[in-house]
Amino acid sequence: MVLAEISGSISRALQQMNNATVIDEKVLNDCLNEISRALLQADVQFSMVRDMQTNIKNIVNFDELAAGHNKRRIIQQAVSNELCKMLDPGKPSFTPKKGKTSVIMFVGLQGSGKTTTCTKYAYYHQKKGWKPALVCADTFRAGAFDQLKQNATKAKIPFYGSYIESDPVKIAGEGVERFKKENCDLIIVDTSGRHKQEAALFEEMRQVAEVTKPDLVIFVMDSSIGQAAFDQAQAFKQSVAVGAVIITKMDGHAKGGGALSAVATTKSPVIFIGTGEHMDEFEVFDVEPFVRRLLG
Ligand code: GDP
Repeated sequence: MVLAEISGSISRALQQMNNATVIDEKVLNDCLNEISRALLQADVQFSMVRDMQTNIKNIVNFDELAAGHNKRRIIQQAVSNELCKMLDPGKPSFTPKKGKTSVIMFVGLQGSGKTTTCTKYAYYHQKKGWKPALVCADTFRAGAFDQLKQNATKAKIPFYGSYIESDPVKIAGEGVERFKKENCDLIIVDTSGRHKQEAALFEEMRQVAEVTKPDLVIFVMDSSIGQAAFDQAQAFKQSVAVGAVIITKMDGHAKGGGALSAVATTKSPVIFIGTGEHMDEFEVFDVEPFVRRLLG
């Protein structure tokens, strides 16, 4: 199942419950089973799904609910609360501090919106008075440096990269060093999203992380991510210590159901969402509206 379909399955399950004339235990069980199936197929951990079922059943106790209680609303609210809980990994991500140098490394598949998101993240902080800088450590994709350079120039953000150097680890190290000397407080390292060999990509991520010593690694994920890409999220997590997630292209059709799995897999919170191609189409992630959209 494509992860973006989870939200469709969940809202369908809730809709079916809404269409039922009487809400009894069977209707609730059918609804919960449907939701659980969608979450499990999206690789949300079994224990999380089981806890969700148990919690909802505890809240919606048919013996205790007096007649006249709006069971539909209570169930919907309970599902919504549980999804909010799933999006909360229980610990906040590293938060950079203005005036103190932090290195932030971005990882993700090619096409996920990584390069665009690096600039958005830099621009967002620059508007708040930070001194960000961008390092292009993607030497694999032709044009990656030009794209970063163009974005950075437009936003008047210093950047570092090379047309001739082919070693991303060297560029990453040099860029971070230079911007540390220039007292930039937010050094953002954009990395490659594809390689001739998958194993080589993950080894490269590991080496870039080793040389730049990032305070935070952000995993960038397209909101319409498919199952294959999800497996790669796990692979990224295994090679570098992913500490936060950014979901892009939330302006599209996808509802972003994959966020649930990304949070579960990486055990890191979603911190921002991308809502368009422009530099300022970027928002701080807010769990509740996100879940409303997921259920909508
Ligand atoms: P990368 O290969 O991961 O570095 O991806 P890019 O940053 O080059 O982005 C790939 C495409 O997605 C580009 O056409 C971007 O303009 C587009 N893109 C990135 N973020 C968003 C977003 O939030 N919304 C929309 N609609 N497009 C986006």
